[in-house]
Amino acid sequence: MKVSTSLNVFGSSISRLEAIRRCAAAGFQVLDMNYWDLQNEMLQICWSEEEAWAKEMRAYADQLGVRFTQMHGPVHGGTFTNLVTGLTLDSFVGLAERSLRSAAILGIPWVVFHPTDIAIDGKETYEEILDYNLNFYRRLIPVLEETGIGIALENGCSVQGYNRFFTVAEELAQLVDALDHRLIGACWDTGHAHVQKVNQVSAIKMLGDRLKATHIQDNDGVSDQHLLPYQGTIDWVELVGALKEIQYSGDFTYEAHNGVNKLPDGIRDAGLKYALELGNYVVSLEKEKG
Ligand SMILES: [Zn+2]
Repeated sequence: MKVSTSLNVFGSSISRLEAIRRCAAAGFQVLDMNYWDLQNEMLQICWSEEEAWAKEMRAYADQLGVRFTQMHGPVHGGTFTNLVTGLTLDSFVGLAERSLRSAAILGIPWVVFHPTDIAIDGKETYEEILDYNLNFYRRLIPVLEETGIGIALENGCSVQGYNRFFTVAEELAQLVDALDHRLIGACWDTGHAHVQKVNQVSAIKMLGDRLKATHIQDNDGVSDQHLLPYQGTIDWVELVGALKEIQYSGDFTYEAHNGVNKLPDGIRDAGLKYALELGNYVVSLEKEKG
């Protein structure tokens, strides 16, 4: 389990090439390309321009000796009817397909997507929402099979009428199992689960080999703060123990941008080095015997 970070530690304040360079210089060997941060730009360009972009990113990462192992895919919106401005469901599917083709160029095996409600404060039952998500994510299967790239569906956290479902491992597992495809698995966001007061040890064990990706972040148990481990109240010894117990083979991927990008730029590189050292400490934690 290698410690990785999303490039979102720099927000959109610097170019992606510069973000790759600075993460590599801090010592990270594996990275997460955050396509979500780029989706508005991607919507403005055609595939051949995006393809050239992905090739440039890959070549630069290769040159620096770092690998992309995870991607946060594009996000349709808070629900399937409250879409991000400029998107329709069909244009989102097109963007998702492009993100998977870019992931293939970048060498990324798993791209993370959000299962959601149909509408804010919707009245649909769990079964209806499950069915909607099944039908929606099935649309990506042809491109998954063509590229060999997988999608990992992430647990959300419920806020103001959003994400009534798929916040617990049982529902996420049910969605993944119903999709029943070797290129579809789960992503566990530790911060979302902490806000939901989920028992993360049981959740991770229940997901077992469905778990393909992680979003590692901490918070106070109340709001989704995206902080580094120990800046919140998650029990990291237990959590890492559960990841080891299921022999999770992906990376320990920070989605902990607020632990770094709130710093003035002049100290962010030191913040990143600290984040990596902290991550290496956390993944080496062992539960005390006896
Ligand atoms: Zn996340």
